[in-house]
Amino acid sequence: MLRNDQLAEWDRENFFHPSTHLAQFARGEAPSRIITGAKGCHIEDREGNKHLDAFAGLYCVNVGYGRTEIAEAIAKQAHELAYYHAYVGHGTEASITLAKMVLDRAPDHMSKVYFGQSGSDANETNIKLIWYYNNILGRPEKKKIISRWRGYHGSGLMTGSLTGLELFHKKFDLPLAQVVHTEAPYYFRRDDLDMTEEQFTRHCVQKLEELIEREGADTIAAFVGEPVLGTGGLVPPPAGYWAAIQEVLAKHDILLVADEVVTGFGRLGSMMGSDHYDMKPDLITIAKGLTSAYAPLSGSIVSDKMWKVLEQGTDEYGVIGHGWTYSAHPIGAAAGVANLKLLDHLNLIQNNREVGAYLNSAMRDALDDHANVGDIRGEGMLCAVEFVKNRDGRVFFDAADKIGPQVAAALAARGVIGRAMPQGDILGFAPPFCLTRAEADEVVSKTVQAVDAVLG
Ligand code: PLP
Repeated sequence: MLRNDQLAEWDRENFFHPSTHLAQFARGEAPSRIITGAKGCHIEDREGNKHLDAFAGLYCVNVGYGRTEIAEAIAKQAHELAYYHAYVGHGTEASITLAKMVLDRAPDHMSKVYFGQSGSDANETNIKLIWYYNNILGRPEKKKIISRWRGYHGSGLMTGSLTGLELFHKKFDLPLAQVVHTEAPYYFRRDDLDMTEEQFTRHCVQKLEELIEREGADTIAAFVGEPVLGTGGLVPPPAGYWAAIQEVLAKHDILLVADEVVTGFGRLGSMMGSDHYDMKPDLITIAKGLTSAYAPLSGSIVSDKMWKVLEQGTDEYGVIGHGWTYSAHPIGAAAGVANLKLLDHLNLIQNNREVGAYLNSAMRDALDDHANVGDIRGEGMLCAVEFVKNRDGRVFFDAADKIGPQVAAALAARGVIGRAMPQGDILGFAPPFCLTRAEADEVVSKTVQAVDAVLG
């Protein structure tokens, strides 16, 4: 085995890490952390430090770490057939079985699933399908995509444009012109503090109507949104939001894409976020929870309504010109089948509901009165604590103070991993669904210690 210092040196010399301060990392000013193993909700690094991972990697290891059932399914598939492509009607038992399992868990009006590798490429697929759909229907002008500020949909060219976070646009010449953004459904950050939640929903709807009016409904193809805003701050929608938004979209014949990369397969305590909020999307994006990240795999679930038009398109223009070498990769598909079976057999979504509610209420009990805690919110196994300089008048800290990252670092020093969300001082939690109440207690007590250490 390589010595720690040798690996750390190679790391800084050769490895381009995503979402990292490149210069600080190369100069050795930012830590390198080499993870060697994990079990349940805990990860271990090369120095032997153990941490309770209360963000499940990047909210993806939903069934927890070290599941031998999934490892064995992957190994078996690799021995039998590590790869064959899925072009021109090819498949494997794993990919066909997984497609059926996904459709069995999706809303009834969904028809087919296209498999990719990441949430980003699944959303790229979605936008291509939307443009293809409107071209087949003879309305080539109807192409713009509405996304929300603070939405997160990936970091490709189109998906980075859909993402409504400053960091992902700045200096990358994004967003692309086909993407327009509307109000984030973020009640705590409303401009008018006197608004009720219902009034704020009406405000979001009005902003959407104004945008559609300004751009022209005949130029707008789709609206993309996460059922619960994820990376933008872990924000459940305000009361009545999805019903009201869907009414507007239906009126203007605008498709709905539910980006369920985080919420799909149980994160909110329901199988899909679309069921949770009574959404009727035309496309659903899935990734993370599909395999619990044991192998990279994503999917675009297509509704009956869109599927009919896609079929019509291939009758008129021939084979659909869209495919990846690794679409429906057998190893990813085998991981997906084993993962979804485990989710059922261990009743993990039920545990998520119970322990997620417990975690949220314990976090509230512990921190609700803290002078620098402005909001504690969550849904299912998602929980966020948002910090403010002053609760009166909801005064935020200066971003340069880096309060969120400081609290996350203080928490990590105490053995628990939360995530400093990238925009605002927000500490996020999204533990594996197998979290126990004792582990939830540890997350809360260490969070209190970390908050006190940074903010007093
Ligand atoms: N959509 C949502 C809602 C996400 O949270 C993410 C990633 O966090 C993505 C898309 C992009 O997925 P990936 O990082 O696998 O490309």
